[in-house]
Amino acid sequence: MIFMEKLGIKSGKYITRNTKETQKLGVDLAKSILKLDKKPQKAIIITLSGELGGGKTTFLQGFAKGLKINEKILSPTFVIQKRFKVKNKNLKNFYHIDCYRLNNQKDILELGFADMTNDSENIIALEWPEKIKGFLRGKEVIKIRFKYLDQDTREIIFK
Ligand code: ADP
Ligand code: MG
Repeated sequence: MIFMEKLGIKSGKYITRNTKETQKLGVDLAKSILKLDKKPQKAIIITLSGELGGGKTTFLQGFAKGLKINEKILSPTFVIQKRFKVKNKNLKNFYHIDCYRLNNQKDILELGFADMTNDSENIIALEWPEKIKGFLRGKEVIKIRFKYLDQDTREIIFK
């Protein structure tokens, strides 16, 4: 869909053989987003799907680093959403949302999801996006799927 081409990221499969390689993919995606010359109309939404331990949070650690965020990205145990400031002329906030514990997809609205997705200064990364499917319908999204191959190997698919 949208920017995969504009971002210079080939949609397709990547194999990573350790945590660092997965983080590096995240760094690369962030850097390509920062280099976008045309301002997006709405927030940039990235969805990360795949089983627990697949590397979604690990990828986002690299992604945040690529956005020059110094705080560490953690697997939010009790927190569903965390906001990080981005120092960039076009982008101001990075939201990390883990929908795993959402019981009702409407609960995402209480977190301000509607305004958040309409603001082109936001980047939103969603783990377990299938939990809020109804609110993503019709939105342009960068989709990333994580597959566990073995202890140190993951397949990461960009769509
Ligand atoms: P998720 O957010 O998908 O549940 P995490 O990123 O929290 O997954 O956890 C992935 C775990 O797998 C981490 O402990 C990480 O160190 C380990 N790991 C091993 N190899 C890889 C790899 N190639 N890519 C990502 N994580 C890896
Ligand atoms: Mg996670």
